[in-house]
Amino acid sequence: MGCELCPRRCGADREIQPGFCGLKKELRIARIAPHLWEEPPVSGRRGTGAVFFSGCSLRCVYCQNGEISHGCAGRTFTPRELADALKRLTDLGMHSISLITGTPFVPQILEALALYRPPLPLVWNSSGYETVETLRMLEGTVDVYLPDLKHYSARMGRLCAGAPDYFTVASAAIREMCRQTGSPVLGEDGILQRGTLVRHLILPGLTGESMKLLTWIRDTLPEGTPVSLMRQYVPCNGVSVPGLNRRITEQEYRRVLAHMQALGLPGFVQEAEAADRDFIPVFNRDESFI
Ligand code: SF4
Repeated sequence: MGCELCPRRCGADREIQPGFCGLKKELRIARIAPHLWEEPPVSGRRGTGAVFFSGCSLRCVYCQNGEISHGCAGRTFTPRELADALKRLTDLGMHSISLITGTPFVPQILEALALYRPPLPLVWNSSGYETVETLRMLEGTVDVYLPDLKHYSARMGRLCAGAPDYFTVASAAIREMCRQTGSPVLGEDGILQRGTLVRHLILPGLTGESMKLLTWIRDTLPEGTPVSLMRQYVPCNGVSVPGLNRRITEQEYRRVLAHMQALGLPGFVQEAEAADRDFIPVFNRDESFI
């Protein structure tokens, strides 16, 4: 049977050819290294051990990691090699392990984790565009879900990722994530041991979409579900969607932030200084792998 791991359900026989995500069957990874710039309960002071998988099943036109999501930069790994890398990250004293955009490789990731399960919170960092069936394969293994919630309207899902069903799919996926993890549990060190933390990146000219998404979170997800409001959008890849060729304004950020505060949503906000930091890691160089 062809691959149906993600909502594209493109049915590719990845033994023979890549699917919509650009990936054949072999596990492919762009970067394995400590990462300091996730939310405080994920990376803490010492960082999270981040594994950036190559390719992506959503492939947003404005992706800030286009080299890996569209270009599939990286190299192949066996599950044994991934297990060994997870052990090295653990030995470095990371607070958590983050598996980033791993959906097309869920079977191989589970194989690696059967060989070595880090004794740390395991974070599944995703676009939010996931099937409930694939998420159920991760139940009992993933401790923390860190999904994006990107677009509310079918129009923006279509324009930005060719996915008019984005909100329908992601909203069901995030409800499933919350069901699996329950309410957030913080350790004594302030690191999230269990829970779902929803990220939202504000896009220029689309504060109305942001506000609808935040309202949906308040109305639908369990009380206390934290939100990370991000303002770091930078036009990338010569993005052609009208209006997305600039950064957001201070006024736009303040408008969405005020709405989040009025809703009483707990979580994290990104200060301007942090939004200006270079969040785009280096890929495909010697230092990409510990
Ligand atoms: S993970 Fe890739 S190959 Fe599998 S259904 Fe999604 S796009 Fe197709």
